[in-house]
Amino acid sequence: MSDPTRPRGPKIIAVANQKGGVGKTTTTINLGAALAEAGQKVLIVDLDPQGNASTGLGVAPSDREYTTYELLLEEIELSEVVRETALDNLLIVPATVDLSSADMELIASEKRSFLLHDALRQNAMDVYGLDYILIDCPPSLNLLTVNAMVAAHSVLVPLQSEFFALEGLSQLMLTIREVRQSANPGLRIEGIVLTMFDSRNNLSAQVEQDARDNLGPMVFKTRIPRNVRVSEAPSYSLPVLQYDSTSKGAMAYRDLARELMSNQTRAAA
Ligand code: ADP
Ligand code: MG
Repeated sequence: MSDPTRPRGPKIIAVANQKGGVGKTTTTINLGAALAEAGQKVLIVDLDPQGNASTGLGVAPSDREYTTYELLLEEIELSEVVRETALDNLLIVPATVDLSSADMELIASEKRSFLLHDALRQNAMDVYGLDYILIDCPPSLNLLTVNAMVAAHSVLVPLQSEFFALEGLSQLMLTIREVRQSANPGLRIEGIVLTMFDSRNNLSAQVEQDARDNLGPMVFKTRIPRNVRVSEAPSYSLPVLQYDSTSKGAMAYRDLARELMSNQTRAAA
């Protein structure tokens, strides 16, 4: 790796926003696919009990014997939980609804906030030669999301381009500050990415203006357009980059990947 600012080992990014339906899973899958397409070795960790990232990448529920749950709460060989996808360079640890009870079980553990951190830093991880780990967080600021923030170098926040988008961001930022104070002082904001952007809609433009005015350089230049091909792709178990390689959505996620790769030193908020 040529970038001296890059941490040793994979860069770990938590994709988080406690609002549901803002594009976390879509961004995790497609940013992961775009990075993989660019030759980076990527692992997606599905940390949402809904398991949408797993489904979207073609891991059938019946085929998820070992999952993020075992990764967090049981001693298990990594090779049992790290799965290949249809894409070269893109791996996944899938999730099932089992993970919904993990939030409660974690509370009983002394190392409750560090379980994902420790799991991702075990020596056995080295064999995969990863460049990036993307963690798809649940729509909540629960202990699972805190585990992601403790494990991560940075947080990437998808922001849906609609009314009230910025509401809730202060709660998210507060959680990030608390994690910095308690467990992970180096945690950065990777950036905020506008999703489901509709350039014909004044509201999208207004949200973008508000975001750029208030959050400045934290906001990625790349906007992800609202694009029907993006929403269709998961039902074909594919990232949009494979489902429709020249769609606007695919192009935007490639741009986002490029911006991310060239922007390892984005300022912390
Ligand atoms: P989250 O993980 O934050 O709950 P999702 O990524 O599942 O959000 O997205 C919510 C819904 O919006 C899904 O149905 C998804 O297909 C759709 N969606 C996300 N991004 C786009 C986009 N750029 N264009 C069209 N639909 C999108
Ligand atoms: Mg999701």
